[in-house]
Amino acid sequence: MVKTDHGIDVYKESWEQLTRDKAFEGYVPEEVCISLCQIDGILCHPTVKEGDYVFKGQVIGEPDDEKYACIHASISGRVEEIFQYQRSPGIFETFVCIKKENGKQREWYPFSVEYDKDTILKMMYRIGIHKEDITSGKILIVNGFANEPYITSGYRLIMESSGKIVIGAILWSIAAETEEIYLCVNEDALDAVSKLKRAVQKYGKNLGNRRPIWIIPMKRKYPKGNEQIIRAVVAGKKKNMTKVVSIAEMTALYDGIYDGEPWTRVGVTLSGKVMYPKNLWIPIGTNVNEMIEYCGGMPKDAMVICGGPFKGKTVDASNYWIRRETTGILVLESKDIVESSCVKCGMCREYCPKKLCPDIIEKAYLKGTENIRDLHADQCIGCGICSYVCPSGRRLTEYVGQVKKGHVCKKVDENSMKGSYIDLNSKIRNMKKLGSLDLKSQSAPHIHRRGTIQDVMRNSIYGLIPLIAGVFIRNPESQWHILSMLIISSIAAYLTEYFWQQYQGKYMTVHDGSAIFTGILLALLFSAETSLWKVAFASVISILLGKQWFGGIGCAPIHPVIVGKLLFQPFGVPVIEPLWYFAVFALGWLILTRMIPWSYPAVYLIIVSVFQPKLIFSASVYIAAAYFVWSYETLTPTRFGKWTFTLLLAVLTIIFFKIGMGSSCVCFAVAFADLFRHLFCFPRMKRV
Ligand code: SF4
Ligand code: SF4
Repeated sequence: MVKTDHGIDVYKESWEQLTRDKAFEGYVPEEVCISLCQIDGILCHPTVKEGDYVFKGQVIGEPDDEKYACIHASISGRVEEIFQYQRSPGIFETFVCIKKENGKQREWYPFSVEYDKDTILKMMYRIGIHKEDITSGKILIVNGFANEPYITSGYRLIMESSGKIVIGAILWSIAAETEEIYLCVNEDALDAVSKLKRAVQKYGKNLGNRRPIWIIPMKRKYPKGNEQIIRAVVAGKKKNMTKVVSIAEMTALYDGIYDGEPWTRVGVTLSGKVMYPKNLWIPIGTNVNEMIEYCGGMPKDAMVICGGPFKGKTVDASNYWIRRETTGILVLESKDIVESSCVKCGMCREYCPKKLCPDIIEKAYLKGTENIRDLHADQCIGCGICSYVCPSGRRLTEYVGQVKKGHVCKKVDENSMKGSYIDLNSKIRNMKKLGSLDLKSQSAPHIHRRGTIQDVMRNSIYGLIPLIAGVFIRNPESQWHILSMLIISSIAAYLTEYFWQQYQGKYMTVHDGSAIFTGILLALLFSAETSLWKVAFASVISILLGKQWFGGIGCAPIHPVIVGKLLFQPFGVPVIEPLWYFAVFALGWLILTRMIPWSYPAVYLIIVSVFQPKLIFSASVYIAAAYFVWSYETLTPTRFGKWTFTLLLAVLTIIFFKIGMGSSCVCFAVAFADLFRHLFCFPRMKRV
């Protein structure tokens, strides 16, 4: 078994608590609309006609090939309508609409008492389980890992039907002739793990099963539940010999063979901003809007997502019906993500589970490059992590997905806001049943990590507030002058960035707060007596020469604040220098609000204080740890580069202090480390 540590921790206790302890609640709607295409591209032909009375479990659609499965009525009632619906552009599906009638019900009996391979395969067709490439793997992986946040239907299924899952897996193994069975489950769901263990002890030897059944508790990291990743994690080098199935399929197999009931119900989590989040046990074909109404309704401007927050698709609730593979419906407030230009931080590359370079793929796509196969976008699993971690809110997942599909973008500006969000309106026009056009639509992922450029800049300014207060208290005679320095510096920086971007016709990023932050920090690094014209001029030069001339945030060779400071007052003692304890607060604030990681500043401070203990009482050193060690203005795109930059900065700070530069050692050290940081960017790309 391979020990890999793919993924990122994205789960919040509060999200899971909404539905984790809520058992499945049965709900039967008045009407269902069942798609006759439960696998993409495999359309069954209807075996009923409008006006027919159908029993729950009666076959209503049959495939042309027996390796696929039948589709059944999920409630008893009358077929009201058979209609075509365009589910996504160019993909039409036939739906059978059944209205509930309390007529005669059919009794169900077990299909079989013989459990040989051929009987089970025959039964699978009648139950509604596809058996395409069933014998392709020698290892069966039953995926009970809760991948997406919020969705707890898998956990509830294990808690309520662990025996069915184990017996279903054994039946599948008999049919597929697999040699081993792995049941994957979340490591932190201890109750689910013990339920499965007890079920394996009780039923593991049933039906003459001699295959080993392993329970694999897996550390909760997204996207470990993805089929490709779970194969690699569980089977390692044997990943091509595996077959991954869902726990829902296993319970359906059990229900079909033991109770004789075809697959007509699914467990779905309805969570998020609904009045009463629940786990529902519902017939396939239930309308999502009806489910939301049953759970107390949702806010008016919320969006409805089929699936989880990372991979789910925004849907029109009144025209979307539950399918076999649906595990969750999520209602979230629609939030506009402010997109700014790439700061070349490399986070998307660092966290991509397939080790791709989403920023480079996006850039190539937006440039309209036609042949970008070298960038391996075909390996993308669409997990959404790149967009989730991107501090600039770039729509990387969407663009990489477009490249994967072989689409070529019309040439647009890299910084442009143009894109191709899922256009729900185009689908609605082709729908049989017209719904509201007032839809909230957004491409996945639907949640983003805290720490966008705006968040970082806002918190950077908040962190400086105690320092500014300390400066006023310590310099009572120069309070007005210092206040004027701060105001003039930040206004000059803001206006310079604003007019430069207007003049250049660039996408405006001035709203991200980085210019104002530059102005404030620059003023604090000058001495108290600095003339106002000098401060204003330094601020203008910082933005022009230190930032915009080279392409904006993330592109400058030296941090803009350091450019202004070194050009206009290289050896002046900063007004904040004695107030080191307030600078410690600024650093602590940024770490506690998770705007910067703690490890890089900690290593910098430890090295500096061990070799130059006098610097422990220098505010400049803490300012460097807070604002320059990890700065989106000058971050290197690789982890190696970030660590090397931190170490170099610490060494240069010590050397410059030793040769008598005093508090200016920090600014010179940052300037030199920034200049050389591009040397540490290798390995720049992992796959290209
Ligand atoms: S490029 Fe694809 S695989 Fe990589 S993080 Fe983005 S969505 Fe996931
Ligand atoms: S800002 Fe960082 S995470 Fe976003 S695209 Fe650029 S390099 Fe990737």
